[in-house]
Amino acid sequence: MAYKKVEQFEDRITSGLIDHYRDALELLGENPAREGLLKTPERMAKAMQYLTQGYQMDARAILDSAKFHEEVSEMIIVKDIELYSMCEHHMLPFFGKAHIAYIPNGYITGLSKIARVVDVFSRRLQVQERLTTQILGAIKESLQPMGVAVVIEASHLCMMMRGVQKQNSVTTTSAFWGEFEKAETRSEFTKLISSKLS
Ligand SMILES: [Zn+2]
Repeated sequence: MAYKKVEQFEDRITSGLIDHYRDALELLGENPAREGLLKTPERMAKAMQYLTQGYQMDARAILDSAKFHEEVSEMIIVKDIELYSMCEHHMLPFFGKAHIAYIPNGYITGLSKIARVVDVFSRRLQVQERLTTQILGAIKESLQPMGVAVVIEASHLCMMMRGVQKQNSVTTTSAFWGEFEKAETRSEFTKLISSKLS
C-alpha cells in the first residue's frame, strides 16, 4: 500500500513537470504539438529528474556501506572522476573532472564509493565551489581521516554558450582539510594528480 502511494506521488510530479515543459516550449515560440516535439516535455521531465536524483541520495550512507578498518596511513587518490552537474543560476550543464584524496585514520572505503559521492552532489543544482566542499565534508564525516583534498576542474556551458562565450575557460576549485592544509602534503597531492603515469 505504501509503495502504491509513493508511486502515485512520483506520477504526480512527473506529470506536473510535463505540463510545465509543454508550456515552456510554447512560451519560447515553439509548437509543442508538432511531431518532433510531441514527446519532448516527457523526455525533459525524465531527464531533469535523472539529473537531479542526487537530492534523494545519501553520501554518508554510500561511504559507510563499504567502510572498513584498515591500518593504512598513505595518501589514497582517486583522480579523473568524470563529473556532470548543472549550474543553479542558469540550469545549464557544467562538466569536467574531480580529483579526490584522503589520508586514512583507521578506516578506508571502496574506491567506487568515492566516485559515487561525486554523483550524489553533482546530480543537483549546484555551484562548483559548494560541490567541492560538500564532497570533502561527506568524506571527512564518514571516514574521519587525517586529511581530505578535493580539486574540481570544469567547463561551464553557461559561460561557453551565452554571454561572454569564453569557449576554452576551465574553472578550478579546491578544498583542503587536515593534513592537506600543510603545504608539503598539498604539493605532493597536486604533483600526483598532474602526473600522467600515477
Ligand atoms: Zn551558470
